[in-house]
Amino acid sequence: MLPLVILPYMTERKDLAPEEHGASESCAANEEEEQGTAFGANGETELEVGHETLSEPNADENFTEKSGCLTRMGKGTCGRPLHLAPEGVDDRRVCLMHSKDPGKLSGPLFELFWSAFEEILESAGDQAAHFDRFVFPVLNFKGREFLPYCSFNEATFSRDVDFRHVAFTRSVDFTRANFQKNAIFSGTLFEQKVKFNRAVFAQHATFLEATFTLIARFTGAEFRQNANFRGVTFSRTAKFTDVKFMQKSNFSNATFAMDASFRRAIFTQSAGFSGAIFERDADFDHAKFLQHGSFFSTRFTQSARFGSATFAQDADLRGATFAWSADFSRATFLQNTTFLSATFMRNADFSDATFSLNVVFSKANFTQNADFSRATFGAAAAFSRATFGQSTDFTDTTFSGMAGFQLVTFQDTAQWQRSRFLDRAEFRGAKFVPKTDDAPGAVFALARFSKPQEIIFDDVDLGRVLFHNCDISEVWFTSSAQWATRTGDRGLRVFEETVSLESRYAAELQRNGLRDFRAVAQICQQLKKNYDSRLDYWTANEFHFGEMEMKRLDLPRTGGFVRIREWLHPRFSPVALYRLASNYGNSFWKPVTWLTAVLLIFTLLLPVPGIGLKRQIPVRIESYNTVWNMSDHWTPNIEREERIVAKAAIAAVDSVTFQRNAEYLPAYPWGRVLAILTTLATSTLFALFLLAVRRQFKR
Ligand SMILES: [Zn+2]
Repeated sequence: MLPLVILPYMTERKDLAPEEHGASESCAANEEEEQGTAFGANGETELEVGHETLSEPNADENFTEKSGCLTRMGKGTCGRPLHLAPEGVDDRRVCLMHSKDPGKLSGPLFELFWSAFEEILESAGDQAAHFDRFVFPVLNFKGREFLPYCSFNEATFSRDVDFRHVAFTRSVDFTRANFQKNAIFSGTLFEQKVKFNRAVFAQHATFLEATFTLIARFTGAEFRQNANFRGVTFSRTAKFTDVKFMQKSNFSNATFAMDASFRRAIFTQSAGFSGAIFERDADFDHAKFLQHGSFFSTRFTQSARFGSATFAQDADLRGATFAWSADFSRATFLQNTTFLSATFMRNADFSDATFSLNVVFSKANFTQNADFSRATFGAAAAFSRATFGQSTDFTDTTFSGMAGFQLVTFQDTAQWQRSRFLDRAEFRGAKFVPKTDDAPGAVFALARFSKPQEIIFDDVDLGRVLFHNCDISEVWFTSSAQWATRTGDRGLRVFEETVSLESRYAAELQRNGLRDFRAVAQICQQLKKNYDSRLDYWTANEFHFGEMEMKRLDLPRTGGFVRIREWLHPRFSPVALYRLASNYGNSFWKPVTWLTAVLLIFTLLLPVPGIGLKRQIPVRIESYNTVWNMSDHWTPNIEREERIVAKAAIAAVDSVTFQRNAEYLPAYPWGRVLAILTTLATSTLFALFLLAVRRQFKR
């Protein structure tokens, strides 16, 4: 039998036991520890112990025998009489409370242990009760109320632990506690601070619907089997920083009323947060979800941080609500990911994120900016029916698989600058409707399409889309893709023509501070080629007009008389005349009209120098002047003038159609000069007519 010598120790204990303020000091020490100063508190304790006891544990058997158990407790040592445990059970001789003696599991030792425990608890009143490093046999506190501050620092729970519906009225400390079997805290009420820092749960840990009234610390804890926090309420901060969940973890329907930190946490098996509510910041930065991570319908009221988090298996964030900013920058999603119908009410940051497999953002609602810059989509990326309320940034993004933007609404500029589309992309029914009038709807500048034939723009209004420095000559614009029209019914235009040079998206469109019409012409040229190759000559002609128009507007900038040339170029350069004569070969009515006009003018001008009948030798030249007989009446004179105009008409047609045996010849020299000029003009106009006809119907 062991002597019952707990009472003499108890008096000694009183001095050693830290008062409540001491306990809160140690809390503060632990807070520091969490922030990285690590082990400070315990290191100090160890030193103090060395000074106080002034002895090595095994230095003097007799001395040890006298001073009792040397196990550290709080800031002192245990001091209880040593327990005679079977050989090899304990590393050194300790008291019954600290012994790993299996005899404690039942029988008299069991009774002894618990009576000692109850005594500690009772004598503590509402002060501190220390159970540091105790080795507990099976424990059942179901429904009990603990009034003192309880310290279970480094305690070992060798059998199942049942704290169901227990109420801890003061702080409780399970730092580094070791739960070797199941630990049940279901419905437990923690009315003050709780610490489970670096605790190890070797078997199932159940905190079902437990309530943490003040800060709950689980920093560095290890859950080796399932951890069930379903329906738990954290009324204050919940710290799960660096926690390791080796099996399933379940936080579904949990409520985090204040900040929750799962920074660097590792979820080895499936992690369930579905239906959980984070009312303040949720921090999952650098967290690792090695299996299925579920945030189905999870609500993040304040900022949600998943920066550099890793989802090694499927990530399910369907219907999740991010009421404040959502940060997924540099996050890695190695398997399928779904954000179906998720709501982002503030900025959503997916910059530098990696989606290795399929990702779904369909029906997601981005109220503010969505940043996907430098993100990598390893497989299909589905954004169909998503809504982007503010700017959308896909700058430098890589789409390795199908990129689906069907029926997506972009209410501000969507940027795809320098994006790479390695596979298909569909912009079917996408709506680019920026709220500001002159903002571009979408920018594809410098984007690259590896399979341009598989890039589809269908039923899209491209009136405000920028494509400069991006090869779109083979991109598939269906007949329902609409372009803007140039004012004055002058064909279709691209947005580069009218976009404000002030716009930050138009930087590449500037040359010496002015619009670079060559760059615009290049896009028109690509579109002409594009529509030509699809035998849509009508649309191709519209862009041909645009291309030539850009050439006309590309004014000379250097050299002499630059001012005069600047004025002349858009009016009288060959390209300007080409437009005047036939709308750059698009109109065949225009050259016909001009042809008729030229012929008419020639006919009327020819009798001025005069015409003569070829057969008469010498040729008698008739002109308006020579046929007019001053002595005659008006009527015969007019008749003679009419005849000469008729003859001139014959001569005109003869000369412009190169008739060798013309009856009437224009008088030498000015009549002939007139004839040569007219021939040049009419033949050019006729060629333009033929060209226009060919352009309209066939190539
Ligand atoms: Zn002891």
